[in-house]
Amino acid sequence: MTTTATPARERLIHWLRDAHAVEKQAETLLGSKLERIEHFPELGQRIAQHLEETRSQATRLEACLDHYDESPSSFKDITSKMSAFFHGLGTASMSDEIVKAMGMMYAFEHMEIAAYKNLVLAARAAGDARTEEVCRAILDEEIAMANWLADHQQAVTERFLVMDAAEGIDAKH
Ligand code: MG
Ligand code: FE
Repeated sequence: MTTTATPARERLIHWLRDAHAVEKQAETLLGSKLERIEHFPELGQRIAQHLEETRSQATRLEACLDHYDESPSSFKDITSKMSAFFHGLGTASMSDEIVKAMGMMYAFEHMEIAAYKNLVLAARAAGDARTEEVCRAILDEEIAMANWLADHQQAVTERFLVMDAAEGIDAKH
Protein backbone atom coordinates (compact mmCIF):
# COMPACT_ATOMS: atom_id res chain seq x y z
CA MET A 1 0.00 0.00 0.00
CA THR A 2 1.26 3.51 -0.70
CA THR A 3 2.06 5.43 2.43
CA THR A 4 1.04 8.98 1.69
CA ALA A 5 0.58 10.38 5.17
CA THR A 6 -2.84 11.84 5.76
CA PRO A 7 -4.23 12.85 9.17
CA ALA A 8 -6.83 10.07 8.96
CA ARG A 9 -4.19 7.51 8.19
CA GLU A 10 -1.90 8.75 10.95
CA ARG A 11 -4.73 8.46 13.46
CA LEU A 12 -5.57 4.97 12.26
CA ILE A 13 -1.96 3.85 12.62
CA HIS A 14 -1.78 5.41 16.10
CA TRP A 15 -4.89 3.53 17.24
CA LEU A 16 -3.74 0.26 15.65
CA ARG A 17 -0.54 0.54 17.68
CA ASP A 18 -2.46 1.29 20.86
CA ALA A 19 -4.72 -1.70 20.26
CA HIS A 20 -1.73 -3.94 19.59
CA ALA A 21 -0.13 -2.85 22.87
CA VAL A 22 -3.37 -3.59 24.71
CA GLU A 23 -3.55 -7.06 23.16
CA LYS A 24 0.02 -7.86 24.17
CA GLN A 25 -0.86 -6.79 27.70
CA ALA A 26 -4.06 -8.86 27.56
CA GLU A 27 -2.01 -11.93 26.59
CA THR A 28 -0.01 -11.59 29.79
CA LEU A 29 -3.04 -10.91 31.97
CA LEU A 30 -5.18 -13.73 30.60
CA GLY A 31 -2.23 -16.11 30.75
CA SER A 32 -1.57 -15.39 34.41
CA LYS A 33 -5.27 -15.65 35.33
CA LEU A 34 -5.52 -18.94 33.48
CA GLU A 35 -2.55 -20.42 35.34
CA ARG A 36 -4.14 -19.65 38.69
CA ILE A 37 -7.66 -20.92 38.10
CA GLU A 38 -8.40 -24.05 40.07
CA HIS A 39 -12.08 -24.39 40.95
CA PHE A 40 -13.69 -22.74 37.91
CA PRO A 41 -12.93 -24.98 34.92
CA GLU A 42 -15.59 -23.54 32.62
CA LEU A 43 -14.21 -20.05 33.16
CA GLY A 44 -10.74 -21.44 32.58
CA GLN A 45 -11.81 -22.86 29.22
CA ARG A 46 -13.34 -19.59 28.12
CA ILE A 47 -10.24 -17.65 29.15
CA ALA A 48 -8.07 -20.16 27.25
CA GLN A 49 -10.21 -19.62 24.15
CA HIS A 50 -9.99 -15.85 24.48
CA LEU A 51 -6.23 -16.06 25.04
CA GLU A 52 -5.93 -17.79 21.65
CA GLU A 53 -8.18 -15.13 20.09
CA THR A 54 -6.08 -12.41 21.70
CA ARG A 55 -2.85 -13.82 20.25
CA SER A 56 -4.48 -13.94 16.85
CA GLN A 57 -5.79 -10.39 17.25
CA ALA A 58 -2.25 -9.13 17.86
CA THR A 59 -1.10 -10.93 14.71
CA ARG A 60 -3.96 -9.49 12.65
CA LEU A 61 -3.17 -5.97 13.89
CA GLU A 62 0.48 -6.47 12.97
CA ALA A 63 -0.62 -7.36 9.44
CA CYS A 64 -2.67 -4.14 9.26
CA LEU A 65 0.32 -2.08 10.38
CA ASP A 66 2.53 -3.96 7.96
CA HIS A 67 0.50 -2.61 5.06
CA TYR A 68 1.70 0.85 5.99
CA ASP A 69 5.25 -0.36 6.54
CA GLU A 70 4.71 0.40 10.19
CA SER A 71 5.95 -1.85 12.94
CA PRO A 72 4.22 -2.28 16.28
CA SER A 73 7.50 -2.04 18.18
CA SER A 74 7.54 1.40 19.72
CA PHE A 75 4.87 1.31 22.26
CA LYS A 76 6.08 1.43 25.78
CA ASP A 77 4.02 4.54 25.82
CA ILE A 78 0.49 3.31 26.14
CA THR A 79 1.51 0.42 28.34
CA SER A 80 2.90 2.83 30.89
CA LYS A 81 -0.05 5.21 30.53
CA MET A 82 -2.38 2.34 31.24
CA SER A 83 -0.32 0.75 33.96
CA ALA A 84 -2.65 1.95 36.72
CA PHE A 85 -5.53 0.24 35.00
CA PHE A 86 -3.55 -2.94 34.47
CA HIS A 87 -2.37 -2.84 38.03
CA GLY A 88 -6.01 -3.03 39.08
CA LEU A 89 -6.30 -6.25 37.11
CA GLY A 90 -3.66 -7.88 39.25
CA THR A 91 -6.17 -9.32 41.68
CA ALA A 92 -4.06 -12.27 42.78
CA SER A 93 -3.62 -11.14 46.38
CA MET A 94 -7.34 -10.74 47.05
CA SER A 95 -9.30 -13.29 49.08
CA ASP A 96 -12.08 -13.03 46.47
CA GLU A 97 -9.69 -13.02 43.50
CA ILE A 98 -12.01 -14.83 41.08
CA VAL A 99 -14.95 -12.51 41.76
CA LYS A 100 -12.83 -9.39 41.35
CA ALA A 101 -11.23 -10.85 38.21
CA MET A 102 -14.66 -11.34 36.62
CA GLY A 103 -15.41 -7.64 37.09
CA MET A 104 -11.98 -6.56 35.90
CA MET A 105 -12.17 -8.74 32.78
CA TYR A 106 -15.64 -7.40 32.05
CA ALA A 107 -14.29 -3.83 32.27
CA PHE A 108 -11.28 -4.76 30.13
CA GLU A 109 -13.43 -6.27 27.37
CA HIS A 110 -15.57 -3.13 27.29
CA MET A 111 -12.50 -0.96 26.97
CA GLU A 112 -11.50 -3.13 24.00
CA ILE A 113 -15.00 -2.89 22.53
CA ALA A 114 -14.82 0.91 22.63
CA ALA A 115 -11.34 0.86 21.08
CA TYR A 116 -12.36 -1.40 18.18
CA LYS A 117 -15.53 0.60 17.51
CA ASN A 118 -13.28 3.64 17.21
CA LEU A 119 -10.88 1.72 14.97
CA VAL A 120 -13.69 0.70 12.63
CA LEU A 121 -14.57 4.39 12.25
CA ALA A 122 -10.94 5.44 11.82
CA ALA A 123 -10.33 2.76 9.18
CA ARG A 124 -13.41 3.90 7.31
CA ALA A 125 -12.29 7.53 7.50
CA ALA A 126 -8.90 6.52 6.13
CA GLY A 127 -10.52 4.52 3.32
CA ASP A 128 -8.94 1.27 4.51
CA ALA A 129 -11.66 -1.35 3.98
CA ARG A 130 -9.40 -4.26 4.84
CA THR A 131 -8.45 -2.87 8.26
CA GLU A 132 -12.09 -1.95 8.85
CA GLU A 133 -13.03 -5.59 8.31
CA VAL A 134 -10.26 -6.88 10.57
CA CYS A 135 -11.31 -4.53 13.37
CA ARG A 136 -14.95 -5.44 12.96
CA ALA A 137 -14.09 -9.14 13.30
CA ILE A 138 -12.00 -8.50 16.41
CA LEU A 139 -14.81 -6.33 17.81
CA ASP A 140 -17.17 -9.31 17.51
CA GLU A 141 -14.75 -11.48 19.52
CA GLU A 142 -14.53 -8.88 22.28
CA ILE A 143 -18.33 -8.53 22.40
CA ALA A 144 -18.68 -12.33 22.62
CA MET A 145 -16.22 -12.46 25.53
CA ALA A 146 -17.96 -9.58 27.34
CA ASN A 147 -21.33 -11.29 26.88
CA TRP A 148 -19.96 -14.59 28.16
CA LEU A 149 -18.63 -12.90 31.29
CA ALA A 150 -21.97 -11.15 31.86
CA ASP A 151 -23.84 -14.42 31.39
CA HIS A 152 -21.61 -16.35 33.80
CA GLN A 153 -21.05 -13.82 36.56
CA GLN A 154 -23.89 -15.16 38.69
CA ALA A 155 -22.75 -18.78 38.45
CA VAL A 156 -19.15 -17.89 39.29
CA THR A 157 -20.14 -15.76 42.28
CA GLU A 158 -22.58 -18.34 43.62
CA ARG A 159 -19.95 -21.07 43.33
CA PHE A 160 -17.43 -18.83 45.05
CA LEU A 161 -19.84 -18.10 47.92
CA VAL A 162 -20.62 -21.78 48.48
CA MET A 163 -16.95 -22.76 48.53
CA ASP A 164 -16.00 -19.72 50.57
CA ALA A 165 -18.44 -20.82 53.27
CA ALA A 166 -17.12 -24.41 53.29
CA GLU A 167 -14.26 -25.41 55.56
CA GLY A 168 -10.86 -26.04 54.10
CA ILE A 169 -11.43 -24.84 50.52
CA ASP A 170 -9.45 -21.98 49.13
CA ALA A 171 -12.25 -20.64 46.96
CA LYS A 172 -10.51 -17.56 45.66
CA HIS A 173 -9.33 -19.03 42.38
MG1 MG B 1 -8.59 -8.26 22.47
FE1 FE C 1 -10.57 -9.20 24.66
